Amino acid sequence: MRLSYDNLLQIFPSGPSRTARYGLAIVSSWGALIVCLPLERALSENLALTLFIIPVAVSAWYGGLGPGLLATLLCGLANQYILTGPNFAFTDFDMADWKRLTLFLITGGILTWLIETTRIARQRGEARAREDEQKRIEFEAQIAERERARVERERLIAELETERARLKAIVEHIPAGVILAEAPSGRIVMVNPQMERIIGRPMVLSPDIESYREWLTYEVNERPVEGRESVLARTLQGEVVASREILFHRGDGVKAWVRVSGAPIRDAGGKIVGGVDLITDIDAEMRACEALRVNQERLNLAQKSARLGSFEWNIQTGEVIWSEETEALYGLPPGGFSGDYEAWAKLVHPEDRPHAEQAVRRALVDGEYNAEWRVIWPDGSIHWIITRGKVFFDDAGRPLRLIGVDIDITERKRAKEKLRESEQRLEIALEAAKLGSCHLDFGANELTSSAACKANFGRGPDDHFTYEDLIEMIHPDDRERVLEHIQQTIKNREGYQDEYRVIWPDGSIHWIAARSRRVYGADGQPLYCDGVTLDLTEHKQMEESLRRQTEALREADRRKDDFLATLAHELRNPLAPLRNAVQILSLRGDDPAVVAQTNELMDRQIQQMVRLVDDLLEVSRIGQGKISLQKAPVDLAEVVATAVETSRPLIESHRHKLTVLLPDRPVRVEADAARLAQVLSNLLNNAAKYTEDGGCIELIAQRGPKEAVLRVRDNGVGIAPEELPQVFDMFMQVESSTDRSQGGLGIGLTLVRRLVEMHGGKIEARSAGLGKGSEFLVRLPALTEPASESVRKPAEDSPTQAPGSLRRVLIVDDNADSAESMALLLRLDGHEVRLAYDGQSALEEAHAFRPDVMFLDLNLPKMDGYEVARRLRREPAMRDMTLVAMTGYGQEEDRQRTQEAGFQLHLVKPVDFTKVEELLSSPPESHSRSKR
Ligand code: ADP
Repeated sequence: MRLSYDNLLQIFPSGPSRTARYGLAIVSSWGALIVCLPLERALSENLALTLFIIPVAVSAWYGGLGPGLLATLLCGLANQYILTGPNFAFTDFDMADWKRLTLFLITGGILTWLIETTRIARQRGEARAREDEQKRIEFEAQIAERERARVERERLIAELETERARLKAIVEHIPAGVILAEAPSGRIVMVNPQMERIIGRPMVLSPDIESYREWLTYEVNERPVEGRESVLARTLQGEVVASREILFHRGDGVKAWVRVSGAPIRDAGGKIVGGVDLITDIDAEMRACEALRVNQERLNLAQKSARLGSFEWNIQTGEVIWSEETEALYGLPPGGFSGDYEAWAKLVHPEDRPHAEQAVRRALVDGEYNAEWRVIWPDGSIHWIITRGKVFFDDAGRPLRLIGVDIDITERKRAKEKLRESEQRLEIALEAAKLGSCHLDFGANELTSSAACKANFGRGPDDHFTYEDLIEMIHPDDRERVLEHIQQTIKNREGYQDEYRVIWPDGSIHWIAARSRRVYGADGQPLYCDGVTLDLTEHKQMEESLRRQTEALREADRRKDDFLATLAHELRNPLAPLRNAVQILSLRGDDPAVVAQTNELMDRQIQQMVRLVDDLLEVSRIGQGKISLQKAPVDLAEVVATAVETSRPLIESHRHKLTVLLPDRPVRVEADAARLAQVLSNLLNNAAKYTEDGGCIELIAQRGPKEAVLRVRDNGVGIAPEELPQVFDMFMQVESSTDRSQGGLGIGLTLVRRLVEMHGGKIEARSAGLGKGSEFLVRLPALTEPASESVRKPAEDSPTQAPGSLRRVLIVDDNADSAESMALLLRLDGHEVRLAYDGQSALEEAHAFRPDVMFLDLNLPKMDGYEVARRLRREPAMRDMTLVAMTGYGQEEDRQRTQEAGFQLHLVKPVDFTKVEELLSSPPESHSRSKR
């Protein structure tokens, strides 16, 4: 390290201490002496002394004046004492020594002084330099400080500017009007654009408060507030105005709600330097609030009138709040609900409680619920409630509140129930009427059909039945027409109505009548339709049978007309010859041959007429069920013989060949022999009539396994196939054969069929066609057992009275012609005859005349025939008299009645004279019931 004063100063900042300085002077002096001692001989005395200058200089340089002088002194003395001879003594000093010493001292002193002076000058220079340096540093510090202050000021100014810009931006963009005014003048220094918009007029930055009196006028509670009373004026006077809502008169004449706040601005000393007003447009808010209030009122009103209750359940605290309406819905007075969950649960109908509680519990998870349940009011009545609720959760998902509404739907439920009942009734009625109902949603292509509707299509009530199924089931012959009709009615917006056939799943065909009405959307497309279906099958069948019946009736009517014409014709036919005969008799009554011939003619014609009338009466009686059969086991051979006998004259008159084939063994049937013979003779007569003269007729009697069969065949005109099924119908006469009818009325076969059926049999007509002959087959149930002995003997076997017995006869009839003609005939036979024309004279005549036989008409004036008979029968004297009833009625009950009145015999008018003759010729005891 370089030893310098600066370095020393550094080592000793406050300068070396005195000891150090003097110590260095002594040490350095001793050092120089020690160095010079070994060199004493080599060095001259002067040089040695010169060497001692070094410690002097060092001590002076280091220690200053004192140490330098000390070193000079010590070095001079040391040199004199030690080095200059004699050594180590001051005694032998010579002048040179003194001179040298003195010089040395002087030199040392001067050197020390010089060094000291230099050192002091240097120290002073250094101090000055240090001072300058200090000043420079201070100056520089001042400059730096000022620079810092300038930068700080500039920063503050910039910051201020930024703040101001920010404030301006805020003021300009704040969604409120801002006014800044100076105090105390009231000069407005800043207004933002919102302010102009809110107050509805442009603003001028005015010099004082008076100048904005006009536009700062506003109303509070309809009282105008002027300039000095304004919020701004008050803030300038130091008042803080917080949030006043005022109805402001805008420049455009509109009154709008604003909220005004204001505060004074004070300087650091608290002096008011200005005021700021903040105006917020709350018109929309206020109006919304007003609307909300009105809405709330309306809602309350609506809730009241709609009986809509609201409730809130605080799930955390368990508190339940009900509106008055909700309480009313539960039948409670206002404030009657105790406000907890359990209280609610108790009011719910016990049957609905589980499901109600479950709905609420589920809502705590799902967030909402919508349910219906019954509540029991304190008066015991049951009411229905529909309720909807929403649950609100906190951020952690815990349910906080459940808010909901209740509506009383009791009426709706009752109406629904009634509707359901009436629908059920309707459904039953529809079902009973087989009237199905259906609904088709065109959009969803969805068909909803009632059970009856499905039944109309042969489907079960639970079957899935679509519109496509329906269309598919329509009979292929009808389907296209039905679809076209549907499209057509949609196009014309007409109601739909149609009838068509459908094929049921079991293959049967049914008729359906369908009607529907559609509802159309705005685009003209059908939305849905409601319709009814009806199974028309029975109706159609009835219609068909009615049609057939009408057809048959028409045919019957036509036949009846034909019949009447035929009848008139057939009745008139005998009249012409009869009239002729009467004339002949009046002209040639004296000629016995003519009379005999005429009588024959008249008899034939009358027989023909009687036959016609008999047939007619027979048919009518059978039709009315007035004929009863006298059934007994009878051999077919007997019946055949009787029938052949009856028909023989006609067969022979046409020269037909009749072949009768009978079975080997008797075939017996349970039958009325006379009626069965009538059947057969009718068939034989027809065969004779409808066969060319000289034809062949066969009558065959056979026995089948269980039945007896009678066939009447001919080779005559035959019957066309289409006429065959009708030949048994009343008044039926085959067109082609009417010319051969020979007096027929078209009722013979009707009579035949009915008689056969009354015997439990069947008749059938067969023919290979026109000109190919006919065959009539009669099948009767055959008897398996041999006939009893009580089989009647043929009529010819019965005993007959020899002719010739003359009787006393009384004829009673109000028809004088009838009575007298009969009397004439009987007198011609030789009988004694008397006449009476009413009941009373009949009785008198009976007593006077005492007849053997009395022919008594039943329908008499004064007293009817029954009464006359009864009275006569009561008289023993009259018991032997034979009483014969004459009447138009010949049924069994008629005969029964006459028998009960006391008649022995019953004759049906017109009375067959042969029967009368037979009767009079037989003995009175044979006038038994069997001959009736
Ligand atoms: P009618 O009095 O006209 O004979 P019927 O009832 O006895 O009436 O017969 C009905 C019709 O049946 C006759 O008019 C005739 O056309 C037809 N008919 C009946 N029997 C025969 C037959 N054997 N051959 C052909 N046609 C017959």
